[in-house]
This record gives sequence, structure tokens and C-alpha cells, in this order.
Amino acid sequence: MNKGGLTDFSRLCIHTITTKPWNIEEAAENYSKAGVKGISVWREILEGRDVIKTGELLRGNSLEVVSLVRGGFFPSISSGKRTKAIEDNRNAIEEAAFLGCPMLVLVCGADPAQSLEISISQIKEGIGVLLPYADEYNIKLAIEPLHPMYADTRSAISTLSQANDLAEYFNSPLVGVVVDVYHLWWDPDIERQIARCGANGNLFAFHICDWLSPTKDMLNDRGLMGEGCIPVRKIREWVEKAGFTGFHEVEIFSIKHWSEDQYQFLENIKNTYLENS
Ligand code: ZN
Repeated sequence: MNKGGLTDFSRLCIHTITTKPWNIEEAAENYSKAGVKGISVWREILEGRDVIKTGELLRGNSLEVVSLVRGGFFPSISSGKRTKAIEDNRNAIEEAAFLGCPMLVLVCGADPAQSLEISISQIKEGIGVLLPYADEYNIKLAIEPLHPMYADTRSAISTLSQANDLAEYFNSPLVGVVVDVYHLWWDPDIERQIARCGANGNLFAFHICDWLSPTKDMLNDRGLMGEGCIPVRKIREWVEKAGFTGFHEVEIFSIKHWSEDQYQFLENIKNTYLENS
């Protein structure tokens, strides 16, 4: 008996990075055949592709394009690099629009050569500069707090509380937050911060996977739901209690799983999604 569990795939979305060995055409066809309803597209997979046609291909496979991953990386001690980051984010917003995708995920960035406070102020500045552009294309910007082990180079925004602060500072329907269980499961304040996020209309996306113990690689050793120690279902229930009705996005970077037969891996994603999410 799957008490309180999910019973179908109507809200299952997969990030293309999860099945990294597949190109976008293979991902589209195989997700669709497996009954997956949503796809979040990593920008790398679009390289050399016509983005508008790719969007059509995805919709032609009955997939809803949930988010484009990823923009951000605003902070740097170099003003030239900060300007370049803004340019890249503008391109990402255009790509999202061409793809027919409503949301760009922001991995906010950090620079270990400066303080976290300065990095955070540069993130704030970067989002502020991008916002009119996002508005022009009607693309949502979703701030994803990352686990503090990435606070040196990937994200000076580590907690959901910080992400909530940032989203509330902008107070815009286009700026919100991604709740990713991998990054936030350890936080003793997570339940309260999820409620706060939802109450302010800022809960834009929900990412799932699991934390393996021991974790062998800080980046590429994530597990399937139920393989590790994250209470995925409990967190999903909090997210839904906070009013979230969007997709459950499976985002797994794993050298181990990428080396397996991806068809079998996809079946395992579906099974563990129902059993443990
Ligand atoms: Zn994520």
C-alpha cells in the first residue's frame, strides 16, 4: 500500500541532465513514450539546435516545457565578467521564450575571491537588471538556493530563507524560488520557509532526487528517490500544503546512473517516483 503516495505520472517532469547520455530528440521521444508529462531543458543540450523547432518537437511529443536550466552566476570580482553574465542571462531569457518555456532557473553564483555579502549584493543587482528583460518576454526567474557546500563558487544563496528574502525584495510575479530537496533537506527551518514561500506566491518549482550516504562526489552522485536519506514525500507534502500545484521535477546528476542503460534508468525513475515521492 502506497500510503499518501503518488498514483500517476501527470505531474512527473524530468530534467534532460538526468538522462545526460540522450540528446534532446531521444529524451523527447523516450520521456513521452514512458508517459512523462513535463521536461526541463538544460541549455547545453540545445547547442547546435534550432530552439524554436526544438520547442515544437517537445510539444509534438506531448511534453510541457517546464523550465530552462540555467541562468544566473552573477557575482564576480571582475566587472567585465559580471557584464558578460548579464548578457548570457539575456540570451537565456530569449532562449526560454523561443522554446516556449515559462521559466528560467537561476543558479545565482558566488566568487570565492570576495565575501558572500558582496556576492549576494551582486546577485540582487543582476536580477534587478534582468527583470525588465524577463518582463518583456514574460519569463519567470526562479532563484534556486543551493546546498552550502557550493557556497564558494555556485551559490551565495544557500537557504530557503535567503531565497525568500530575495524574492520578497523584488515583490514581482516574475521572481520566485525553486525548492530542491537535495539542497534544502537538512535545514531545520525548511517546513516554515516552504510555507512562507507559498504564502507569498513565490513557490515556482519543486526538484527531487536523493542524498546518498556516503556521497562520493559533491556534484555528480545524486540518488533516485528512496536511495538516500531525504524525506522526499514529507517535503512534497509541505510544498503542496503551501499551495504548489506544479510539476515534480526529477533532477539527478549521477556518474553511476548515467553509465547505466538509460531506458532501465527511466523505468527506475518512474517506480521510485511513485514509491517514494
Ligand atoms: Zn535543482
